[in-house]
Amino acid sequence: MRIAVFSARAYDRRFLDEANERHGHELHYLEARLDANTAALADGYEGVCVFVNDTVDAATMEQLAAGGTRLLTLRSAGYNHVDLAAAEAHDIAVARVPAYSPYAVAEHTVALMLAVQRKIHRAHNRVRDGNFALDGLLGFDLRNKRIGIIGTGKIGMIVARIMRGFGCSIRAYDPYPNDDVRDFGVRYEDLDTLLGECDVITLHCPLTPDTHHIIDEAALRKTKPGVMIVNTSRGALIDTKAVIDALKDGRIGHLALDVYEEEGDLFFEDLSDTVIRDDVFSRLLTFPNVLITAHQAFFTEEALRNIAESTLGNASAFAEGRASGNEVRIQAVRG
Ligand code: NAD
Repeated sequence: MRIAVFSARAYDRRFLDEANERHGHELHYLEARLDANTAALADGYEGVCVFVNDTVDAATMEQLAAGGTRLLTLRSAGYNHVDLAAAEAHDIAVARVPAYSPYAVAEHTVALMLAVQRKIHRAHNRVRDGNFALDGLLGFDLRNKRIGIIGTGKIGMIVARIMRGFGCSIRAYDPYPNDDVRDFGVRYEDLDTLLGECDVITLHCPLTPDTHHIIDEAALRKTKPGVMIVNTSRGALIDTKAVIDALKDGRIGHLALDVYEEEGDLFFEDLSDTVIRDDVFSRLLTFPNVLITAHQAFFTEEALRNIAESTLGNASAFAEGRASGNEVRIQAVRG
Protein backbone atom coordinates (compact mmCIF):
# COMPACT_ATOMS: atom_id res chain seq x y z
CA MET A 1 0.00 0.00 0.00
CA ARG A 2 1.21 3.55 -0.72
CA ILE A 3 1.07 5.41 2.59
CA ALA A 4 1.64 9.12 3.27
CA VAL A 5 3.02 9.44 6.80
CA PHE A 6 2.26 12.88 8.28
CA SER A 7 4.08 14.57 11.21
CA ALA A 8 7.01 12.22 10.60
CA ARG A 9 10.04 12.75 12.81
CA ALA A 10 13.40 10.96 12.58
CA TYR A 11 12.31 8.51 15.29
CA ASP A 12 9.09 7.68 13.40
CA ARG A 13 11.11 6.88 10.28
CA ARG A 14 13.52 4.71 12.21
CA PHE A 15 10.86 2.46 13.75
CA LEU A 16 8.48 2.46 10.74
CA ASP A 17 11.32 1.57 8.33
CA GLU A 18 12.38 -1.24 10.65
CA ALA A 19 8.80 -2.63 10.84
CA ASN A 20 8.29 -2.13 7.11
CA GLU A 21 10.96 -4.73 6.35
CA ARG A 22 8.23 -7.21 7.31
CA HIS A 23 5.31 -5.41 5.61
CA GLY A 24 6.75 -3.97 2.37
CA HIS A 25 4.53 -0.88 2.06
CA GLU A 26 5.63 2.20 0.12
CA LEU A 27 6.06 4.86 2.81
CA HIS A 28 6.26 8.55 1.94
CA TYR A 29 7.35 10.64 4.94
CA LEU A 30 6.07 14.20 5.39
CA GLU A 31 7.11 16.54 8.18
CA ALA A 32 3.92 18.54 7.69
CA ARG A 33 1.05 18.15 10.09
CA LEU A 34 -2.16 16.94 8.44
CA ASP A 35 -5.07 19.37 8.26
CA ALA A 36 -7.33 20.73 5.54
CA ASN A 37 -4.46 22.87 4.18
CA THR A 38 -1.99 20.00 3.82
CA ALA A 39 -4.38 17.16 2.89
CA ALA A 40 -3.59 17.64 -0.79
CA LEU A 41 -0.09 16.24 -0.07
CA ALA A 42 -1.80 12.86 0.33
CA ASP A 43 -3.31 12.89 -3.19
CA GLY A 44 -2.89 9.47 -4.73
CA TYR A 45 -2.06 7.73 -1.42
CA GLU A 46 -4.47 4.96 -0.48
CA GLY A 47 -3.16 5.02 3.08
CA VAL A 48 -2.62 8.04 5.35
CA CYS A 49 -0.82 7.69 8.68
CA VAL A 50 -1.20 10.34 11.41
CA PHE A 51 -0.28 11.14 15.00
CA VAL A 52 -2.12 12.89 17.84
CA ASN A 53 -1.78 16.52 16.78
CA ASP A 54 -2.82 15.98 13.17
CA THR A 55 -6.34 17.30 12.59
CA VAL A 56 -8.56 14.90 10.70
CA ASP A 57 -11.81 16.87 10.73
CA ALA A 58 -14.64 16.74 8.19
CA ALA A 59 -12.94 19.16 5.76
CA THR A 60 -9.68 17.19 5.88
CA MET A 61 -11.52 13.90 5.46
CA GLU A 62 -13.35 15.22 2.40
CA GLN A 63 -10.06 16.18 0.75
CA LEU A 64 -8.44 12.87 1.62
CA ALA A 65 -11.38 11.01 0.09
CA ALA A 66 -11.17 13.14 -3.07
CA GLY A 67 -7.46 12.26 -3.32
CA GLY A 68 -8.19 8.51 -3.17
CA THR A 69 -7.42 7.74 0.49
CA ARG A 70 -9.21 4.65 1.82
CA LEU A 71 -7.43 3.99 5.10
CA LEU A 72 -6.43 6.28 7.94
CA THR A 73 -3.99 4.46 10.20
CA LEU A 74 -3.34 6.19 13.54
CA ARG A 75 -0.02 5.93 15.38
CA SER A 76 -1.96 6.42 18.60
CA ALA A 77 -4.53 4.83 20.86
CA GLY A 78 -6.63 8.01 21.23
CA TYR A 79 -8.80 9.05 18.25
CA ASN A 80 -10.39 12.25 19.59
CA HIS A 81 -8.65 14.13 16.72
CA VAL A 82 -10.52 12.13 14.05
CA ASP A 83 -14.03 12.89 12.78
CA LEU A 84 -15.33 9.32 12.65
CA ALA A 85 -18.70 10.33 11.19
CA ALA A 86 -16.92 12.04 8.29
CA ALA A 87 -14.69 8.97 7.83
CA GLU A 88 -17.77 6.78 7.57
CA ALA A 89 -19.50 9.20 5.20
CA HIS A 90 -16.47 9.09 2.87
CA ASP A 91 -15.91 5.35 3.30
CA ILE A 92 -12.45 5.82 4.82
CA ALA A 93 -11.55 3.06 7.26
CA VAL A 94 -9.87 4.12 10.51
CA ALA A 95 -7.54 1.91 12.53
CA ARG A 96 -5.59 2.68 15.70
CA VAL A 97 -3.00 1.13 18.00
CA PRO A 98 -5.10 0.25 21.06
CA ALA A 99 -2.22 -0.81 23.30
CA TYR A 100 1.42 -0.29 22.46
CA SER A 101 2.91 0.02 25.89
CA PRO A 102 0.65 1.11 28.71
CA TYR A 103 3.75 0.66 30.89
CA ALA A 104 5.48 3.55 29.08
CA VAL A 105 2.68 5.97 29.98
CA ALA A 106 2.13 4.60 33.49
CA GLU A 107 5.84 4.76 34.34
CA HIS A 108 6.11 8.32 33.03
CA THR A 109 3.11 9.26 35.17
CA VAL A 110 4.89 7.99 38.27
CA ALA A 111 8.12 9.69 37.19
CA LEU A 112 6.25 13.01 37.01
CA MET A 113 4.57 12.40 40.38
CA LEU A 114 7.91 11.81 42.06
CA ALA A 115 9.84 14.51 40.20
CA VAL A 116 7.39 17.35 40.82
CA GLN A 117 7.02 16.84 44.57
CA ARG A 118 10.69 15.94 45.29
CA LYS A 119 11.61 18.90 43.02
CA ILE A 120 14.08 16.80 41.01
CA HIS A 121 13.94 19.24 38.08
CA ARG A 122 14.92 22.15 40.33
CA ALA A 123 17.50 20.16 42.28
CA HIS A 124 19.24 19.05 39.08
CA ASN A 125 19.66 22.65 37.91
CA ARG A 126 20.85 23.79 41.33
CA VAL A 127 23.55 21.12 41.62
CA ARG A 128 24.83 21.93 38.13
CA ASP A 129 25.01 25.57 39.25
CA GLY A 130 27.06 24.69 42.31
CA ASN A 131 24.13 25.46 44.63
CA PHE A 132 23.89 22.60 47.13
CA ALA A 133 21.34 24.22 49.49
CA LEU A 134 18.12 22.30 50.23
CA ASP A 135 15.80 25.23 50.98
CA GLY A 136 12.71 25.05 48.78
CA LEU A 137 13.19 21.38 47.92
CA LEU A 138 11.07 19.88 50.70
CA GLY A 139 8.92 16.97 49.51
CA PHE A 140 6.64 14.39 51.15
CA ASP A 141 6.58 10.59 51.49
CA LEU A 142 4.19 8.91 49.06
CA ARG A 143 3.76 6.04 51.53
CA ASN A 144 0.31 6.15 53.20
CA LYS A 145 -0.92 8.86 50.82
CA ARG A 146 -4.21 8.39 49.03
CA ILE A 147 -4.01 8.28 45.23
CA GLY A 148 -7.14 8.91 43.13
CA ILE A 149 -7.15 7.33 39.70
CA ILE A 150 -9.73 8.59 37.21
CA GLY A 151 -10.04 5.87 34.55
CA THR A 152 -8.85 2.38 35.42
CA GLY A 153 -8.22 1.01 31.93
CA LYS A 154 -4.87 -0.33 30.76
CA ILE A 155 -2.78 2.63 31.93
CA GLY A 156 -4.72 3.52 35.10
CA MET A 157 -4.56 -0.08 36.27
CA ILE A 158 -0.76 -0.18 35.95
CA VAL A 159 -0.44 3.15 37.77
CA ALA A 160 -2.58 1.65 40.57
CA ARG A 161 -0.31 -1.40 40.81
CA ILE A 162 2.86 0.71 40.90
CA MET A 163 1.46 3.04 43.54
CA ARG A 164 0.42 0.07 45.69
CA GLY A 165 4.11 -0.81 45.68
CA PHE A 166 4.83 2.62 47.17
CA GLY A 167 2.49 1.83 50.07
CA CYS A 168 -0.28 4.20 48.91
CA SER A 169 -3.98 3.52 49.33
CA ILE A 170 -5.78 3.74 46.01
CA ARG A 171 -9.21 5.13 45.17
CA ALA A 172 -10.66 5.03 41.66
CA TYR A 173 -13.47 6.47 39.62
CA ASP A 174 -14.57 4.81 36.39
CA PRO A 175 -18.10 4.41 35.03
CA TYR A 176 -17.05 0.85 34.14
CA PRO A 177 -15.32 -0.52 37.26
CA ASN A 178 -12.96 -3.44 36.75
CA ASP A 179 -12.98 -6.44 39.11
CA ASP A 180 -9.28 -7.15 38.45
CA VAL A 181 -8.54 -3.68 39.83
CA ARG A 182 -10.77 -4.25 42.86
CA ASP A 183 -8.99 -7.56 43.46
CA PHE A 184 -5.73 -5.85 44.30
CA GLY A 185 -7.31 -3.57 46.86
CA VAL A 186 -8.46 -0.52 44.90
CA ARG A 187 -11.72 1.00 46.14
CA TYR A 188 -14.08 2.56 43.60
CA GLU A 189 -15.77 5.82 44.67
CA ASP A 190 -18.03 8.33 43.00
CA LEU A 191 -16.12 11.21 41.48
CA ASP A 192 -16.94 13.79 44.18
CA THR A 193 -15.82 11.47 46.98
CA LEU A 194 -12.56 10.73 45.17
CA LEU A 195 -11.93 14.44 44.60
CA GLY A 196 -12.50 15.19 48.29
CA GLU A 197 -10.38 12.35 49.71
CA CYS A 198 -7.22 12.08 47.64
CA ASP A 199 -3.78 13.64 48.04
CA VAL A 200 -2.88 12.92 44.41
CA ILE A 201 -5.33 12.78 41.50
CA THR A 202 -4.15 11.27 38.25
CA LEU A 203 -6.15 11.21 35.01
CA HIS A 204 -6.27 8.09 32.81
CA CYS A 205 -9.62 8.37 31.03
CA PRO A 206 -10.11 9.20 27.34
CA LEU A 207 -11.15 12.68 26.20
CA THR A 208 -14.87 12.57 25.40
CA PRO A 209 -17.73 15.09 25.80
CA ASP A 210 -18.26 13.55 29.30
CA THR A 211 -14.66 14.00 30.42
CA HIS A 212 -13.93 17.38 28.81
CA HIS A 213 -12.76 19.67 31.67
CA ILE A 214 -13.44 16.95 34.24
CA ILE A 215 -11.02 18.98 36.38
CA ASP A 216 -12.61 22.42 36.33
CA GLU A 217 -13.37 25.19 38.83
CA ALA A 218 -16.25 23.18 40.40
CA ALA A 219 -14.08 20.05 40.77
CA LEU A 220 -11.23 22.07 42.28
CA ARG A 221 -13.60 23.43 44.93
CA LYS A 222 -14.01 19.82 46.13
CA THR A 223 -10.35 18.76 46.26
CA LYS A 224 -8.15 18.62 49.36
CA PRO A 225 -6.04 21.73 49.97
CA GLY A 226 -2.63 21.29 48.35
CA VAL A 227 -3.75 18.38 46.15
CA MET A 228 -1.40 17.13 43.42
CA ILE A 229 -2.93 16.82 39.93
CA VAL A 230 -1.25 14.70 37.26
CA ASN A 231 -2.43 14.54 33.65
CA THR A 232 -0.78 12.25 31.11
CA SER A 233 -4.00 11.58 29.17
CA ARG A 234 -5.33 14.48 27.12
CA GLY A 235 -4.95 18.21 27.77
CA ALA A 236 -8.63 19.14 27.59
CA LEU A 237 -9.46 16.93 30.58
CA ILE A 238 -8.28 19.96 32.54
CA ASP A 239 -9.59 23.52 32.40
CA THR A 240 -6.19 25.18 32.40
CA LYS A 241 -7.43 28.62 33.50
CA ALA A 242 -9.20 27.11 36.52
CA VAL A 243 -6.05 25.21 37.39
CA ILE A 244 -3.97 28.40 37.21
CA ASP A 245 -6.36 30.11 39.65
CA ALA A 246 -6.08 27.13 42.02
CA LEU A 247 -2.26 27.20 41.78
CA LYS A 248 -2.29 30.93 42.58
CA ASP A 249 -4.24 30.48 45.81
CA GLY A 250 -2.52 27.24 46.83
CA ARG A 251 -5.50 24.89 46.39
CA ILE A 252 -3.26 22.89 44.04
CA GLY A 253 0.08 22.07 45.66
CA HIS A 254 1.67 20.34 42.67
CA LEU A 255 0.77 20.02 39.02
CA ALA A 256 2.43 17.62 36.59
CA LEU A 257 1.40 17.57 32.94
CA ASP A 258 2.43 15.64 29.86
CA VAL A 259 -0.44 17.07 27.82
CA TYR A 260 -1.95 20.53 27.41
CA GLU A 261 -5.25 21.75 25.97
CA GLU A 262 -3.65 23.83 23.24
CA GLU A 263 -0.58 21.64 22.76
CA GLY A 264 -1.19 21.38 19.00
CA ASP A 265 0.46 24.81 18.54
CA LEU A 266 3.52 23.88 20.62
CA PHE A 267 4.37 20.27 21.24
CA PHE A 268 6.64 18.14 19.04
CA GLU A 269 8.28 21.31 17.60
CA ASP A 270 11.57 22.98 18.52
CA LEU A 271 10.39 26.53 19.29
CA SER A 272 13.42 27.50 21.36
CA ASP A 273 14.21 30.43 19.03
CA THR A 274 10.68 31.79 18.84
CA VAL A 275 8.38 33.75 21.14
CA ILE A 276 5.69 31.64 22.76
CA ARG A 277 2.41 33.48 22.17
CA ASP A 278 0.27 31.29 24.38
CA ASP A 279 -0.03 33.35 27.59
CA VAL A 280 -1.86 30.61 29.47
CA PHE A 281 0.94 28.13 28.83
CA SER A 282 3.56 30.76 29.65
CA ARG A 283 1.79 31.45 32.98
CA LEU A 284 1.92 27.73 33.84
CA LEU A 285 5.68 27.76 33.31
CA THR A 286 6.13 30.46 35.97
CA PHE A 287 5.02 28.27 38.89
CA PRO A 288 7.81 26.52 40.81
CA ASN A 289 5.45 23.62 41.64
CA VAL A 290 4.50 22.83 38.03
CA LEU A 291 6.35 20.29 35.90
CA ILE A 292 5.53 19.88 32.22
CA THR A 293 6.78 17.41 29.64
CA ALA A 294 5.72 17.72 26.01
CA HIS A 295 3.61 14.62 25.36
CA GLN A 296 6.45 12.17 25.80
CA ALA A 297 4.83 9.61 28.10
CA PHE A 298 4.54 7.13 25.20
CA PHE A 299 8.13 7.75 24.08
CA THR A 300 10.03 4.54 24.83
CA GLU A 301 11.84 2.14 22.49
CA GLU A 302 9.31 -0.59 23.27
CA ALA A 303 6.31 1.62 22.61
CA LEU A 304 7.65 3.04 19.33
CA ARG A 305 8.49 -0.46 18.09
CA ASN A 306 4.94 -1.66 18.92
CA ILE A 307 3.31 1.45 17.41
CA ALA A 308 5.21 0.96 14.13
CA GLU A 309 4.37 -2.75 13.95
CA SER A 310 0.65 -2.26 14.68
CA THR A 311 0.32 0.77 12.40
CA LEU A 312 1.76 -1.09 9.42
CA GLY A 313 0.02 -4.32 10.45
CA ASN A 314 -3.29 -2.44 10.29
CA ALA A 315 -2.41 -1.32 6.75
CA SER A 316 -1.41 -4.87 5.74
CA ALA A 317 -4.69 -6.26 7.08
CA PHE A 318 -6.67 -3.61 5.19
CA ALA A 319 -4.75 -4.25 1.95
CA GLU A 320 -5.40 -8.00 2.26
CA GLY A 321 -9.09 -7.50 3.09
CA ARG A 322 -8.69 -8.89 6.62
CA ALA A 323 -9.93 -7.36 9.88
CA SER A 324 -7.07 -6.24 12.14
CA GLY A 325 -9.28 -5.98 15.20
CA ASN A 326 -8.02 -2.39 15.60
CA GLU A 327 -10.69 -0.71 13.49
CA VAL A 328 -12.45 2.31 15.03
CA ARG A 329 -16.06 2.68 13.96
CA ILE A 330 -18.54 5.37 14.83
CA GLN A 331 -21.22 2.81 15.82
CA ALA A 332 -18.86 1.13 18.30
CA VAL A 333 -17.97 4.48 19.86
CA ARG A 334 -21.63 5.54 20.11
CA GLY A 335 -22.77 2.08 21.19
P1 NAD B 1 -8.33 2.45 28.17
O1 NAD B 1 -9.38 2.56 27.10
O2 NAD B 1 -7.69 1.12 28.42
O3 NAD B 1 -8.91 2.99 29.57
C1 NAD B 1 -9.67 4.15 29.69
C2 NAD B 1 -10.54 3.99 30.93
O4 NAD B 1 -11.24 5.23 31.12
C3 NAD B 1 -11.61 2.88 30.78
O5 NAD B 1 -11.57 2.02 31.90
C4 NAD B 1 -12.92 3.66 30.73
O6 NAD B 1 -14.01 2.95 31.31
C5 NAD B 1 -12.55 4.89 31.54
N1 NAD B 1 -13.48 5.99 31.32
C6 NAD B 1 -14.29 6.26 30.27
N2 NAD B 1 -15.04 7.34 30.51
C7 NAD B 1 -14.71 7.77 31.76
C8 NAD B 1 -15.16 8.82 32.58
N3 NAD B 1 -16.15 9.66 32.17
N4 NAD B 1 -14.61 8.98 33.80
C9 NAD B 1 -13.65 8.12 34.24
N5 NAD B 1 -13.19 7.09 33.50
C10 NAD B 1 -13.71 6.92 32.28
O7 NAD B 1 -7.24 3.54 27.78
P2 NAD B 1 -5.69 3.58 28.21
O8 NAD B 1 -4.89 2.82 27.21
O9 NAD B 1 -5.56 3.28 29.65
O10 NAD B 1 -5.36 5.12 27.92
C11 NAD B 1 -5.95 6.16 28.69
C12 NAD B 1 -5.70 7.49 28.02
O11 NAD B 1 -4.30 7.77 28.04
C13 NAD B 1 -6.03 7.51 26.51
O12 NAD B 1 -7.40 7.80 26.30
C14 NAD B 1 -5.14 8.59 25.98
O13 NAD B 1 -5.86 9.81 25.97
C15 NAD B 1 -4.01 8.68 27.00
N6 NAD B 1 -2.68 8.35 26.44
C16 NAD B 1 -1.68 9.27 26.58
C17 NAD B 1 -0.41 8.98 26.07
C18 NAD B 1 0.75 9.96 26.23
O14 NAD B 1 1.79 9.78 25.58
N7 NAD B 1 0.66 10.97 27.07
C19 NAD B 1 -0.18 7.77 25.42
C20 NAD B 1 -1.23 6.86 25.32
C21 NAD B 1 -2.49 7.15 25.82
